[in-house]
Amino acid sequence: MKYIGAHVSVEGGVDKAPINAHDIGALSFALFTRNPSRWKSAELKPQAIDKFKANCEEYGFTPDYILPHDSYLINLGHPDIEKLQISRDAFLDEFHRCEILGLKLLNFHPGSHLNGLSIDECLNRIAESINIVLEQTSGVTAVIENTAGQGTNVGFKFEHLAEIIDKVEDKSRVGVCIDTCHAFAAGYDFSSKDSYNTVWKEFEETIGFKYLRAMHLNDTKKGLASRVDRHESIGKGMLGKEFFELLMKDERFNDIPLVLETPNIDLWPEEIAWLKKESE
Ligand SMILES: [Zn+2]
Ligand SMILES: [Zn+2]
Repeated sequence: MKYIGAHVSVEGGVDKAPINAHDIGALSFALFTRNPSRWKSAELKPQAIDKFKANCEEYGFTPDYILPHDSYLINLGHPDIEKLQISRDAFLDEFHRCEILGLKLLNFHPGSHLNGLSIDECLNRIAESINIVLEQTSGVTAVIENTAGQGTNVGFKFEHLAEIIDKVEDKSRVGVCIDTCHAFAAGYDFSSKDSYNTVWKEFEETIGFKYLRAMHLNDTKKGLASRVDRHESIGKGMLGKEFFELLMKDERFNDIPLVLETPNIDLWPEEIAWLKKESE
């Protein structure tokens, strides 16, 4: 079964996320558990935590299909040691928030070398950051998202993700989230039937479907290998409807959160309904 959802708003509190997801017909959802563009965030209040759990239960969302996304400020591969530490502290806080909310997955962008490290050094540093945080937490899996490769972001090649996973000590608590827009922008052309199979074969050989914990379903405004991250509504971009039809018929994407981050949130109910229908 396909668990299609969207990255919903937490305006008014994290407990609103499951309600917002239910309202658009979602079977999974993503959320921020703290303000994604600030370093400091208030602690989650016990009342909000209880309400979040109660709402998840009421609307049938289990932690397997809830995909929190970390703050955009965090850079786990930062070349500057002091700034790296600030990121690691914030990342640990993100993990603690997931633990408190009873969640099992945390989705994050690997990091950027900022021209201060080689790609390999940056990947090593990211793996080290993950190891440090996994050691101090329990029950939450680190879910690395592939990037479009904008600027000095690493993680735009399957090999980058594989290299990080290779250096993570607890393999049972690391996985990946493939963002379809980012993959296409990074040069993975899966927009036609033949190329679709080639890309996923490469994914299997490089990373392996056993590490696939989630997907971000986004069409893309920019072209193949543009290295530019601009999401588009499903079927309205360079990936097109055929790609999402193939994906919805593909059993390898069953039973994981498939989360929309498409720009027009008014279209989410329609997009979710269409994707669900294609998966039947
Ligand atoms: Zn992301
Ligand atoms: Zn994404």
